[in-house]
Amino acid sequence: MAAEESRETELMQKIVSLCKRRGFVFQSSEIYGGLRSAYDYGPMGVELKRNLMSEWWRFMVHSREDVVGIDASIIMHPEVWKSSGHLANFSDPLVDCKVCGERFRADKAPKLAEGADAPITLADKGRAKAAHEKLQATVPELRRDGTSLLGAKAGPAGYVCSNCGSPFLSEERRFNLMFRTTLGPVDPIGDIVGMVRAAVAEGADDKELRSRVEAAMAASSVYLRPETAQAMFVQFMNVQQSTGIKVPFGIAQMGKSFRNEVTAEHFIFRSCEFEQMECEYFCPPGEGQKYLEYWKEQRMLWWRGLGIDAENLRFRAHDADELAHYSDGCFDVEYKFPWGWDELEGIASRTDYDLKAHAAGSNKKLTYFDPEATDPATGKQGWHYVPHVVEPAAGATRGVLAVLCDAYAEEAGDADGKGARTVLRLHPRLAPIKAAILPLVKRDGMPEIARKIADQFFAAGINAKYDEQHAIGKRYARHDEVGTPYCLTVDTQTLTDDTVTIRHRDDRRQERIKVQEAVDTVQRALRG
Ligand code: ATP
Repeated sequence: MAAEESRETELMQKIVSLCKRRGFVFQSSEIYGGLRSAYDYGPMGVELKRNLMSEWWRFMVHSREDVVGIDASIIMHPEVWKSSGHLANFSDPLVDCKVCGERFRADKAPKLAEGADAPITLADKGRAKAAHEKLQATVPELRRDGTSLLGAKAGPAGYVCSNCGSPFLSEERRFNLMFRTTLGPVDPIGDIVGMVRAAVAEGADDKELRSRVEAAMAASSVYLRPETAQAMFVQFMNVQQSTGIKVPFGIAQMGKSFRNEVTAEHFIFRSCEFEQMECEYFCPPGEGQKYLEYWKEQRMLWWRGLGIDAENLRFRAHDADELAHYSDGCFDVEYKFPWGWDELEGIASRTDYDLKAHAAGSNKKLTYFDPEATDPATGKQGWHYVPHVVEPAAGATRGVLAVLCDAYAEEAGDADGKGARTVLRLHPRLAPIKAAILPLVKRDGMPEIARKIADQFFAAGINAKYDEQHAIGKRYARHDEVGTPYCLTVDTQTLTDDTVTIRHRDDRRQERIKVQEAVDTVQRALRG
């Protein structure tokens, strides 16, 4: 098990290192020491992410008549988050470990039944000794063995520290994940200072002071959206009436979301700023389950269509106690990441909760009238109802990590290691560069011909790259590592018969094609 874990960690390290080396993903503000859980997408990463998101848009919006798109603002009216329940409920349960000081999410911590052995493992003997001395008085049965403390039992919490395994934990506290900021020329600090002075003079205690500070801040607070979904509910009427689209229909949106994640983990898998691709699909009451099944199937088709190995994708049904109170069914699409199965996308039947909540919060009607349907309550033609919603909500940045993990391969080469390489077997439509145009050498007119071929690719709107640096083998290796599916090489023969070699990334097969066919050949592969 330990060996397996270290192989998985090693694989993640290799992927993270390739991402930096080849310009996919960099740590944000790296020269200042980096910002926790924020990432920048480099020249290759931005192409890959955009390609993935364009594929989603093509599949969800352009290839069907019943879904339309929007691009809403990141900052919305603060009442949106009150009505949606995010202000009250969008929080993680936070716990502090009294042994190692780790702050972690209770719902993600290792589970352990009450009374079970809970061995504690510290980073080194010094820390283990210090922890032992601190705990000895209250837990006399504890004994030290190197870096471990043995003899502790799990408490009633049902979990232990995610870092050291200790059952000695603080109470759980709720921590809201939304980023708060202020809108307009307001100075909340000025107001707060005045309010605090007055409250202290009145003898307010800490609890009272805190609630007054909260109230003073709330007056000017706005939030960065923690999901893109709410705009689709809030703009339901505008979209329906401006397009005349009939239920069932969907509103789709892709874009940035922000969550002040307590545990940022696994590189870009969980970050504080990320991108989502969400669709709210509105249907008549009673049809939620049918569309839940439909979207499950569609969304799995899409992930597989990106070339992800079907063996590495699965559904996980949410248990009843995991479901939000308004939801009557939810499935996660999970990918087998190097650390194990984890969520890529959630597909939920949300009943009529969202539209009803915003109708109540805004005092506006969010309903639909179908003149042809029969109202089940009256038996008469013409039905006025609040649509139900099925939501396929995917992570774009998580999707990037999944396709990178799936495409990453190391090939051993021959007995001497000759021909060994690292290759990203990305689907050609996802690949950042579609074709590399390479003169074999920098003379004999080869660069000029290669540049002309590259120009033909640019004119066709295909992201190609002219590349003459280093020996040809090195250039192939570089393009294998960024997943370029085709390398076109101009060589001596090109000078006499107007042909180039086309090298296929996955099996390194090479064939000769006419120069005039180059763009067409790559275009055909991209369509396929
Ligand atoms: P998790 O359980 O992993 O925190 P979630 O269930 O809260 O995710 P949703 O609110 O359903 O996530 O969001 C839809 C999708 O958005 C997720 O399936 C995931 O792909 C993506 N996502 C959510 N939070 C993050 C994050 N912090 N970083 C990157 N992607 C995220």
